[in-house]
Amino acid sequence: MSIFISCAEATKQIIRKEEEPLSSSEARKLKVHLFLCKYCKSFARQSEMINRALKSEGPALKLDPEFKKMLNNPHSTGS
Ligand SMILES: [Zn+2]
Repeated sequence: MSIFISCAEATKQIIRKEEEPLSSSEARKLKVHLFLCKYCKSFARQSEMINRALKSEGPALKLDPEFKKMLNNPHSTGS
């Protein structure tokens, strides 16, 4: 098993970890990816900021994760 994941996989996990905690192996792989990939790193930061802003506005303003993915990380499209 490789510890390297694709950008698409990393993006999926960044979005998912807002909803539920990742397993320790997933979290470790994501961490490695973010260390190596500046695109996903900046996406993770944006995602965190957006999430924090949305939480302060209430759950009604939750963005669709697919939309957010398109909006913030065009780098991750494709497999
Ligand atoms: Zn990446």
